[in-house]
Amino acid sequence: MESHGVVIVGGGIGGLCAAIALRQAGLDVAVYERTAAWRHAGAGLSLWPNAMRALEALGLAGEVAALGAPWRQTVIHRWDGKVLSRLPVEVLCRELGQPTLVLHRAELMRVLLEALGPDGVFPGAACTGFHREGDGVRIDFADGRQVRGQCLIGADGLHSVVRQQLFPDVRVRYGGRTSWRGIVDVTSTPIPEGEQFEIYGPGARFGICHIGPGASGSKRMYWFLLTAAPEGGCDPEGGHKEAVLSHVRGWMAPVESLVHATPEAEILRTDIHYLAPLPSWGDGPVSLLGDAAHAMVTDMAQGACQAIEDALVLARRLREDTDKVRALRAYESRRRPRTAHVAELSLRAGALRYLRNPLGRWGRDLLMRALPPAVALNQLRPVVAHDFMG
Ligand SMILES: Cc1cc2nc3c(=O)[nH]c(=O)nc-3n(C[C@H](O)[C@H](O)[C@H](O)COP(=O)(O)OP(=O)(O)OC[C@H]3O[C@@H](n4cnc5c(N)ncnc54)[C@H](O)[C@@H]3O)c2cc1C
Repeated sequence: MESHGVVIVGGGIGGLCAAIALRQAGLDVAVYERTAAWRHAGAGLSLWPNAMRALEALGLAGEVAALGAPWRQTVIHRWDGKVLSRLPVEVLCRELGQPTLVLHRAELMRVLLEALGPDGVFPGAACTGFHREGDGVRIDFADGRQVRGQCLIGADGLHSVVRQQLFPDVRVRYGGRTSWRGIVDVTSTPIPEGEQFEIYGPGARFGICHIGPGASGSKRMYWFLLTAAPEGGCDPEGGHKEAVLSHVRGWMAPVESLVHATPEAEILRTDIHYLAPLPSWGDGPVSLLGDAAHAMVTDMAQGACQAIEDALVLARRLREDTDKVRALRAYESRRRPRTAHVAELSLRAGALRYLRNPLGRWGRDLLMRALPPAVALNQLRPVVAHDFMG
């Protein structure tokens, strides 16, 4: 039976960053990933200075920054084009010496996989469960293979098998909204470089971001729509674009033209789920990381950023303590309050964004216009400036 110091189940952003950090810390680590084609999935991804700092510690910040587009300012509009507020994100970036970036998730995955190298990454391995064996763990896979680890890290995302075995009563919660995301090639940029537009309409929020250039050097934009919706809805085949347009017809330019220009196959629909903070993250030599431990709604764009922070803290604790079980508990006690706080802020950030009621929207828009940018920056600062390694 194959055996490793640390077995990571799940090769998403969290699992791969953890593997890189653990290997840099001198530990023997292997990643087992369910799908074979997982590396190409996804759309745009924002990385805040906290994530960039962690990537810098992994030696990958420069490479990642070269693939992304800087996000310096958010301009929030009402659906008809009226500007409600501006958030100068670059103020925080300057303070922290790190950029905020938007890039294609698949390109981040490529950088992480290259950094890790092919050894120790096993695609097509779907974990079905684990068993404690002596002072380690035996991990079972759907194809019958079994692997032994001194530790097991469940980085297997929202519907984590490892979490379900640890905490069978825990259920993911529906965030009350669904998302569509698209990436589109453009000949000229429809919004100023460095800006991100957010556009609020009845029950919906549309975002437009620059994303780094495509393989052919083409300019690309990333857009997303989030709208209040019942859980489990799906679009008819070939119907993503029409579903998006049904929410944004008549909205300010370039919303409709971007959606029209996006190939149907480049549009993804995803319901937004989250976890209430877990009572603990592990047991013995088993722990959780990333969405498996703390899936959060997307309103602060911090889910992946927090997974990257987790990776650094996990590696440091496992490097510093030869008692692996104690190191895992130390990692959890460091990360649980931080991620619960960011998850709570994310829920709060979304509370006023998807209002349908005209009076409620009028009040919210008034508040947004009145609020000085410094107030929003002060709310964001502790999230992106947090000293997660301290
Ligand atoms: C619409 C949307 C927009 C978002 N935008 C942002 C953003 O801008 N910035 C940000 O920071 N975050 C964002 N997030 C959140 C972010 O995507 C997640 O927090 C992040 O992907 C979590 O990484 P992870 O590695 O923990 O989990 P995942 O990315 O879910 O990876 C888990 C991996 O485990 C694998 N796996 C699952 N089950 C098994 C199994 N049984 N055996 C083996 N492998 C398994 C999966 O195939 C997958 O590769 C967004 C999320 C959504 C839905």
